[in-house]
Amino acid sequence: MEKRLNTKQISVGGVLVGGDAPVTVQSMCNTKTWDVEATVNQIKQFKAAGCDIVRLAVPDMRAAEAISDIKEQVDMPIVADIHFNYKLALAAAERGVDKIRINPGNIGGEDNVRAVAEACKKRNIPIRIGVNAGSLEKRLIEKYGHPTPEAMIESAKGHIELLNKFDFDDICLSMKASSVPLTVAAYRLAAETFNYPLHLGVTETGTAWNGTIQSAVGIGTVLCEGIGNTIRVSLTADPVEEVKTGIAILRAAGLRSGIKMVSCPTCGRTEIDLIGLAQEVEKRIADIKRDITVAVMGCVVNGPGEAREADYGIAGGKNCGLLFKHGEILGTYPYEQLCDALIDLITKDTEVTK
Ligand code: SF4
Repeated sequence: MEKRLNTKQISVGGVLVGGDAPVTVQSMCNTKTWDVEATVNQIKQFKAAGCDIVRLAVPDMRAAEAISDIKEQVDMPIVADIHFNYKLALAAAERGVDKIRINPGNIGGEDNVRAVAEACKKRNIPIRIGVNAGSLEKRLIEKYGHPTPEAMIESAKGHIELLNKFDFDDICLSMKASSVPLTVAAYRLAAETFNYPLHLGVTETGTAWNGTIQSAVGIGTVLCEGIGNTIRVSLTADPVEEVKTGIAILRAAGLRSGIKMVSCPTCGRTEIDLIGLAQEVEKRIADIKRDITVAVMGCVVNGPGEAREADYGIAGGKNCGLLFKHGEILGTYPYEQLCDALIDLITKDTEVTK
């Protein structure tokens, strides 16, 4: 696993974020939080997809009051997402929420900040300060002309100072923007400036295709520099896809183990339907819980050689293909049997290693 820049560590309902903790994946329910049944069902779907922490919108008291019922039915830490209303933060804290996302500069003055800081401190509830380039303070836009990494850092400092004033330092930070270069620059500067754990995300990225690319470039770039402790991919799609995409980004960045597939891009030497075969293999290995690499290569000439590092693989020939394991060829199979032969081999070895 890649090395992370050291930060302070916080505990979100027992899930550690920052320091030497593994990078975690979050998503946010799009159910009405007061609809306990629907929210619990969606959290269970997140859990099945591998989510570590879930965030819920808390726009009103009804939502805040639902938190205790939801917590009784799920075993995933819950973050309350609150804007402007400190009373909602107090209610969420009383109902056992595990973290609160709130910007203390926007909750109506120091007395309110003190009340939230004290309520959270008493219960060991960390607070995420969420700086967003699209909603920076007016004075900062006037000072910097437009949202810049420096303006975002100054905004974060203001919110942090408010909490620190009341002896509260159990903080995590996010620095989101809808521009990938701005997001990356803001996180780099945040990592240089603060010792708080960083929640990574690019915001308002669009639908699944566009959002995946923007998130992979933005989150992936900073992760590969050792920056970032928890991630949330934002997609205009079923939020379960956010969890799957987040896990895929962590795997691509070398931060999460699991099964990995490599396949060649095909070329004029390809004599089988490699695209169809690769899609079939990808689907059938998806649930295998092993830290292995599976290669699907288009030709025998370059296949096993190029995929030498893979644990298992197939390399296509003319209507047939080779099956190999750690570079050693185990046999030749007709095209129609190739995928089954590969899956049988992996499954057998998986049972032996159990
Ligand atoms: Fe072409 Fe073979 Fe390389 Fe695939 S593995 S791209 S078929 S040379």
